[in-house]
Amino acid sequence: AKKPITVTLTGAGGQIGYALLFRIASGAMLGPDTPVRLNLLEIPQGVRAAEGAALELQDSAFPLLSHVEVYDDARSAFHGANVALLVGARPRSAGMERGDLLTANGGIFGPQGAAINAAAADDVRVIVVGNPANTNALIAASHAPDVPAERFTALTRLDHNRALGQLAATVDTPVGDIRRVTIWGNHSATQFPDIAHATAAGDSVPALLAARLGGTDSAREWLVDEFIPRVAKRGAEIIEVRGSSSVASAASATIDHMRDWVAGTPNGWTSAAVVSDGSYGVPEGLVSSFPVESVDGTWRIVPDLELDEFARHRIAASVAELVEERDAVRSLGLI
Ligand code: NDP
Repeated sequence: AKKPITVTLTGAGGQIGYALLFRIASGAMLGPDTPVRLNLLEIPQGVRAAEGAALELQDSAFPLLSHVEVYDDARSAFHGANVALLVGARPRSAGMERGDLLTANGGIFGPQGAAINAAAADDVRVIVVGNPANTNALIAASHAPDVPAERFTALTRLDHNRALGQLAATVDTPVGDIRRVTIWGNHSATQFPDIAHATAAGDSVPALLAARLGGTDSAREWLVDEFIPRVAKRGAEIIEVRGSSSVASAASATIDHMRDWVAGTPNGWTSAAVVSDGSYGVPEGLVSSFPVESVDGTWRIVPDLELDEFARHRIAASVAELVEERDAVRSLGLI
């Protein structure tokens, strides 16, 4: 039998954690032949909820689930972790300044980075979901000097999937036929969902949009006034319609990200926030979203894409926000 993969999940007593656990245990993330061991990390107030989820996991009798343990101590929870899903974070509360938010999250992601550095397996792969995800990943990576920086990533796959969903509906193509969509920059309202290179069943998406919407100018208008804001603000739309934040789709995107990282991206590129190597003018070391392919278990930034003036401008704006966040956590002494 295969050796179980150890998966550590933080915020395991929260909403996204609850949606994630059962899919991980069913094999959706690491495949139908890979047993998993789940380490659930919570702050003391969250431990009971995580314990409740652990009871339900037992009651689900997942054949692949070898063990579940609940912790309130990061060092123990990350012991031997091959996969780390950092979901728990400090949400912004009313009247909270950005500095306070970053400091609160620095107090979570700094020690978690250090615990990963000290205790995780050599092949550990980390994804940060808790917001501000890109900068939280930067903080964690900076506290893990012995872990290669490329192992720290942040989730923009939900934005990517949202973009696919909107495009599929607009050009009336099955979502699985759409390729070469990119989310650039920060997982925030400044993100740039880019469809300039996108194809649907092999046809150019910009051309399909122009045909459907009555010309390139109307297609451009749709892109700027409808598509981009709709994707970037989809979280708020979900809250308004559903009455609470997106949970299952966030969990599903997290599964997609980790599955593709481990098993590869058979359908060409996807989007993930990874540590920049300087590609596309994004300062080295920032955790920014790029078009990426997973090759041999490593994310590779898709090289040499041509970017027009509009794309360069949008990417620069989102990257400027990441630079600001990095400078803020630096001046707070968090990295
Ligand atoms: P959720 O499980 O709903 O969300 C967790 C995090 O995911 C939040 O930071 C949230 O950011 C973020 N997120 C990222 N993308 C999305 C998206 N598309 N939609 C919604 N959320 C998204 O929050 P809960 O409050 O239910 O659970 C959080 C749990 O984390 C609690 O149980 C808490 O105790 C725990 N926690 C654990 C820590 C630890 O293990 N050390 C540390 C801190 C908290 P946003 O708020 O911006 O939406």
